[in-house]
Amino acid sequence: MKVALYARVSTEQQIENYSIPLQKERMKAFCLSKGWDDMTEYVDGGYSGSNLNRPALQQLQKDIADKKINAVIVYRLDRLSRSQRDTLYLIEEMFLPNNVEFISISETIDTSTPFGRAMIGVMSVFAQLERETITERLRSGRLKMVKDEGLWAGGAESCPYGFTRLKRGKLVINEDERAHIVRIFEEYVILKSYIKVQKKLEKEGFKPLAEWRIIPLLKNRVYIGEVSFGGEWYKGAHEPIISTELFNQAQKVNEHLKYKNYGKIKNNVFRRKVVCGLCGETYRSYSQKDLKTQTRYFYMVCCRRKMPARYESKCFNRNIQRTDLEEEIFNRIMNLEVSGEIEFNRKRTPVDYSTKIKALDEKINKILDLYIESGLPKETLDVKLADLNQQKENLITQSKDTDYEITRMEQMIKEGIPNLFECDLDTQTAIVDLFIDKIIVKENSLQIIWNQ
Ligand SMILES: [Zn+2]
Repeated sequence: MKVALYARVSTEQQIENYSIPLQKERMKAFCLSKGWDDMTEYVDGGYSGSNLNRPALQQLQKDIADKKINAVIVYRLDRLSRSQRDTLYLIEEMFLPNNVEFISISETIDTSTPFGRAMIGVMSVFAQLERETITERLRSGRLKMVKDEGLWAGGAESCPYGFTRLKRGKLVINEDERAHIVRIFEEYVILKSYIKVQKKLEKEGFKPLAEWRIIPLLKNRVYIGEVSFGGEWYKGAHEPIISTELFNQAQKVNEHLKYKNYGKIKNNVFRRKVVCGLCGETYRSYSQKDLKTQTRYFYMVCCRRKMPARYESKCFNRNIQRTDLEEEIFNRIMNLEVSGEIEFNRKRTPVDYSTKIKALDEKINKILDLYIESGLPKETLDVKLADLNQQKENLITQSKDTDYEITRMEQMIKEGIPNLFECDLDTQTAIVDLFIDKIIVKENSLQIIWNQ
């Protein structure tokens, strides 16, 4: 009997009763009581259970498909997933078809017994209810508002630039922003580069928009008077900002650029972000041509592995394919809204930098006074002043940095992160840069250090 022990803990639960050692200990005790001693551990530390995008869980699914596992054990059902739909998917689509038994110790769900199978049946019914009734009711209500009344389905915080959202999703044009949007489209069609557009419009007095906002803006049909729901566009009740003709011209430029970008521009999306979990060196990009298929594929290697002569010893950490890296990292970024991997501490009282800076100014003045009154040696004075001024500069930069970055990340999650797989390289780079500090390559997983 080959048994897989799956344990998971999210960052915020680490202090609770759910610790990984505790989960493992219970599961091992259970296995020993059954006389099963061929155990493999699959551990996702610091992962939320709201989606299936977890390295150890993915490895587990792979091993199940490769017929390496006979049974999967968890401490509690919610360790496997917090979503009933995902739980059922795993049980019905992964475990049962591969003859893998599933056991949750706390709930006594054991698919090797008739009772366990009945439990899954009961869970299915509830999941179905949840999916079909509740979701559908909400969905059809909102769809009706969009389709029949032409209203905007999003909340006030996701209201598109150029509009103000009134009650129930009615959009009215914001006159100041209207002029900006018209100019963006007009110039984009001529200059064919949003960077050039931003530069030109800045001279006209418009505030530049962040890259991740201007690119989707140029594709947004809300500006020709439409509203969307579930990926479909309907006639909106609001007044359009630009003509359909101008919009279509801009889409042609988009198409053209996409084509031009293909394979030409250097992909720097993960540059300097990927770090070796074994030796600490940076991963670098290389490419290789597959002679059989004549296609070029891209991969990243630890520097200390690729060029061992430069170091005392060689590193043997694994290479990663860029497509795999993109798949995992993009999904984790796009899942941030539901996974809550980045915690924004809204209760944190903002640091009162101005008071601290004022206090430093007072100190500086006092020292100057002291120097005049007591004839303190000039060297001592210079050292003291340099130190205080440095502290002051640090405070000023800190006060600018932290607040700004956090609000931008939060804002983007709220507004909806665009589909990264469909974005161009510049947008991908900008978004990865905004969210991610480092990606650490571990033996079986990638650990993301978020910008916090
Ligand atoms: Zn290494």
